[in-house]
Amino acid sequence: MNIPRTSYPRIVIIGGGFAGISLAKKLSKQEVQVVLLDKHNYHTFQPLLYQVSTGGLEPDSIAYPIRKILKDFPNFYFRLAHVDEIDTLNSRVITDIGELKFDYLVIASGSKTNYFGNETIKANSMAMKTIPQSLNLRSLILENFEEALLTSDLNERNSLMNFVIVGGGPTGVELAGALAEIKKGILPKDYPDLDTRLAQIHIVQSSDCILKGMSDKASQKAEDFLEKLGVNIWKNVRVTNYDGKTVTTNTDLVFETATLIWAAGVMGATIKGLDAAELVTRGNRLLVNEFNQVKGFSTIFAVGDIACLVTEEFPDGLPMMAQPAIQQGEQLGDNMLRLIEEKPMKPFVYKDKGAMATIGRNKAVVDLKHFKFQGIFAWYVWMYVHLFFLIGFRNRMVVFINWVYNYIRFDREARLIIRPYKKKLKR
Ligand SMILES: Cc1cc2nc3c(=O)[nH]c(=O)nc-3n(C[C@H](O)[C@H](O)[C@H](O)COP(=O)(O)OP(=O)(O)OC[C@H]3O[C@@H](n4cnc5c(N)ncnc54)[C@H](O)[C@@H]3O)c2cc1C
Repeated sequence: MNIPRTSYPRIVIIGGGFAGISLAKKLSKQEVQVVLLDKHNYHTFQPLLYQVSTGGLEPDSIAYPIRKILKDFPNFYFRLAHVDEIDTLNSRVITDIGELKFDYLVIASGSKTNYFGNETIKANSMAMKTIPQSLNLRSLILENFEEALLTSDLNERNSLMNFVIVGGGPTGVELAGALAEIKKGILPKDYPDLDTRLAQIHIVQSSDCILKGMSDKASQKAEDFLEKLGVNIWKNVRVTNYDGKTVTTNTDLVFETATLIWAAGVMGATIKGLDAAELVTRGNRLLVNEFNQVKGFSTIFAVGDIACLVTEEFPDGLPMMAQPAIQQGEQLGDNMLRLIEEKPMKPFVYKDKGAMATIGRNKAVVDLKHFKFQGIFAWYVWMYVHLFFLIGFRNRMVVFINWVYNYIRFDREARLIIRPYKKKLKR
């Protein structure tokens, strides 16, 4: 990998997401050598992926080059590499560009879409976990309308304009709201010769409420907002299969659709060599202690979505969200320096800053620890928080300008089929 061995201890970080980057920043200017490995050369701001899928933002405004984040840090190395295996016996990682020894290893590989073992759904549905996937979804949505315009088969036209989102968490809710706004504000102008009122947006949720995990008030208000936007919400319904045309459920409910969007869950992105059953728990996450050490190891750590840190308040592990990842990365940076200096490490304590979701223009729900609110003020807070956590001044400016423009013009200008998406169906 062409990385020199120095007298400094070598810390290898796998993953330049929220956790990996906040850890790397903490270790900057310290007497350690840091090697960050990621299969992408950019950091992705996942909370805004849905806006890329729906043409509200260009993909490059929510991505940031990892090399640029690290450019002023001495003793830092970035390698564009997919880590295939971790050899814990010999303290080395095996990647598609070679092998590398480590003194300390931090796994910050995040999560991947969880299809709960259903290979047919995996093959035929659309996911929204990466920028390429969001671009695929953007293309497919637009291609569907182009095709709907051409077909004289009414069933086919309805199926092309029918969007089924599985999962009523923040991702499903935000995507549904954005699609509903496109239906209302953009489709009638773009497709005057198509009856776009026939377009349908459905959320299918297996439990009895959407935004589970947020307050009852937030969940109910989000439901009201979505219903006003014309989104159909199906609660207590579980999708059982999708062959590319028909969605079946555990009830009599069946949907004919060309687009099933799977936002029903994620699971830890474990790596071979550190995926034994005794290390992996609920949600395919690595069991870690209060210092983020992976069970049974003193020099291997895990932070962010991949790490399952069980606390009294969170018996199933901390939520798979940006805040726990950022806070764990920062705290681990301090702890690693303490460990190297042979000082005792400090246990990680999660400061829950709350949760939020936007449903659309002027509509959001925010749950802070002591204060819960919904509506236009919540929407401003949602925008402010997302701008604040975006990496890069340019990205913040571009997103802000786009939002102002979209707000004033009721528009989403990035509705472009740059890279056509062709579905490969598996029956
Ligand atoms: C659509 C969507 C919307 C979301 N909205 C919100 C929200 O509104 N608020 C919120 O708090 N959270 C939200 N989240 C969750 C939040 O984005 C994650 O909790 C957070 O990204 C976790 O950070 P992380 O550093 O653990 O992992 P990630 O940010 O996922 O980073 C993992 C990194 O590891 C790299 N990687 C993985 N495996 C390998 C490998 N084998 N080799 C090399 N590199 C590898 C990946 O390329 C990636 O860069 C959302 C997530 C999604 C998908």
